[in-house]
Amino acid sequence: MRTTISVNKVRGKFVRDVEEISGEDLLACNQCGKCSAGCPVVAAMDLLPSQVIRMAQLGMEEVLESPTIWICASCLTCVARCPKGVDLPRLMEALREISLRAGVSELDLDQLPQELVRELPQLAIVGGFRKYIK
Ligand code: SF4
Ligand code: SF4
Repeated sequence: MRTTISVNKVRGKFVRDVEEISGEDLLACNQCGKCSAGCPVVAAMDLLPSQVIRMAQLGMEEVLESPTIWICASCLTCVARCPKGVDLPRLMEALREISLRAGVSELDLDQLPQELVRELPQLAIVGGFRKYIK
């Protein structure tokens, strides 16, 4: 994938939206990598958490296509480890929110096996609705 980074992108609407929705300062991250080193679900991710924030810093909207933003479990391990006080789960939530607003749903209810729906705790179903569906 060839991507062009420009000043317009770095100062563009996408970066402003991410910062506004998350309430976080993207440039606070200095790419130390401690978040990625401690993330308990990093093995399932295509992009490391630190790579997600780097792409967001650069205004690379392609980050919205990464499964990582949906896999993040908001466990807060990275928040505890970050020396710069970055709340990465808030950034992940902002990226999911931008995707959902654009009409992307990560979960298709019709595709879920009925046996699974019957067995899942209601809390898990409601939580899943909130996270994955517009
Ligand atoms: S731990 Fe914090 S400063 Fe380090 S890469 Fe992750 S978000 Fe950035
Ligand atoms: S909040 Fe998300 S990115 Fe941070 S450690 Fe937990 S799963 Fe990983």
